[in-house]
Amino acid sequence: MKYAPVRNFINGQFKDADTSRHLDVISPVDGTFLSTVPMSSHTDLNEAVIHAKKAFRTWSKIPIKERVQVLFRYRHLLEKNLQELASLVMEENGKTMSEGVAEIEKCIELTEFACSLPQLVQGELLEVSRGVECRTEHVPLGVVASIVPFNFPSMVPNWTIPNALTLGNCMILKPSEKVPLSAGRLAELLKEAGLPDGVFSVIHGDSKMVEAICDHPDIEAVSFVGSTKVAKIVYQRSTFNYKRCLALGGAKNHLMVLPDAIPGMTAQNVIASMAGCAGQRCMAASAMVGVGNVDYIIEKICDEARKIIPGTNLGAVISKASKERIEKYITEAEEQGATVLVDGRNAVVAGKEEGMYVGPTVIDHVRPEMAIAQEEVFGPVISIMRTNTVDEALIIENASPYGNAASVFTQNGGMARYIIEKASAGMIGVNVGVPVPREPFSFGGWNESKFGVGDITGKSSIEFWTKLKKSTIKWNAESGVNWMS
Ligand code: NAD
Repeated sequence: MKYAPVRNFINGQFKDADTSRHLDVISPVDGTFLSTVPMSSHTDLNEAVIHAKKAFRTWSKIPIKERVQVLFRYRHLLEKNLQELASLVMEENGKTMSEGVAEIEKCIELTEFACSLPQLVQGELLEVSRGVECRTEHVPLGVVASIVPFNFPSMVPNWTIPNALTLGNCMILKPSEKVPLSAGRLAELLKEAGLPDGVFSVIHGDSKMVEAICDHPDIEAVSFVGSTKVAKIVYQRSTFNYKRCLALGGAKNHLMVLPDAIPGMTAQNVIASMAGCAGQRCMAASAMVGVGNVDYIIEKICDEARKIIPGTNLGAVISKASKERIEKYITEAEEQGATVLVDGRNAVVAGKEEGMYVGPTVIDHVRPEMAIAQEEVFGPVISIMRTNTVDEALIIENASPYGNAASVFTQNGGMARYIIEKASAGMIGVNVGVPVPREPFSFGGWNESKFGVGDITGKSSIEFWTKLKKSTIKWNAESGVNWMS
């Protein structure tokens, strides 16, 4: 075992969980046995919540300009430890080193946004009649939880940690049991940055812990990121328990390629979008709809795909089960008449024979009714469907139950505008394969890619992590007569 067994982080200390149930943490890069992760109990969660409630009494009363100083120092520590944090992401998730570095750089950007929150949460004040003022303040919620997936072990936690804490909440993070190592380092860095004990805790576990979080009476809000199946469970269970919940789910993102698209640029973007993070991104291009004759662009897409080499500029997928599932989609599509132009099945990386690699895969003549066209594949695979018109392409895009992202590749501004208007997705790209809005713009999809109101990052997150207090104040007895009193 390369690392010590993973432990919970409660009240500023690492602590063994009250459980005998542990899972192995295996690196998808080469099969190295990295660590074990505890499936914590209700006792562990209760302990974290008790400390968080206690810490909230003081943390929430500190002025935001003082609280945010911790986040400035945390941002500096992320930068200082960037290489180490990126290596950890690479080892436990299977990303390439440059993807690991990009993930930590994004954590820094997210923290920088949190550092700007004092400028954004000033509230409002108005003299509504003579001597009478109305005032609004953003007030923290209390103890909140963040439940995260395996595909961004550092970035997705940092979608929620910096904003929720800066706004005065105390957070319990439940990492994915598949990638539990990064969370412990984030906890250490927050402590080193001066975060008081109890404000941030990490409790490891699986679905049982997620259920316990949704049911816990002292947790006010639950943020969830993961698959749609689980997002629905978490949204229903936590709102049933009268909690505020924002649950981000899975995705099936469509790229619509028109014949006037710039071939080289389009091919590079399609492949970067499909193969980045081994296709394990909720923003990955998974389905391409070629409108009209785009054969020459597809040829270039195949050329670009062949430049992607597993183990070099393509990382591993998370597990053996994942690799088998992805390869099954490809085989089924082929059996149903699709043409595999670039085949990533049975990829093996020399020296990393135990690694979980799927090579870049381009499949043409996929039909919309095939499973590979409808379901989230979550691997480096692009399925190409063909239509004669833009409206037919939009029918395919609109029919998906998901709605995270969609992109169009064209040089025609009017056509791009038409697709922006008609696509049923929360994030749209024009000549961009991965249209992730950068801070201060907020991140969030539509339809079955998100349950709840608002977005998880950016200004929109202020509404999620705070409640409004509205005060009406009459300053003296001589205040003018008005209709309110
Ligand atoms: P997942 O839904 O399997 O797991 C997410 C979290 O839920 C984990 O912490 C896990 O322990 C827990 N969990 C798993 N099964 C559960 C159950 N039955 N009941 C309660 N909790 C359960 O997701 P994953 O495989 O870790 O991550 C990949 C998925 O996340 C993909 O679908 C991807 O699109 C999605 N994702 C979405 C976004 C977004 O912004 N919409 C971002 C990142 C990932």
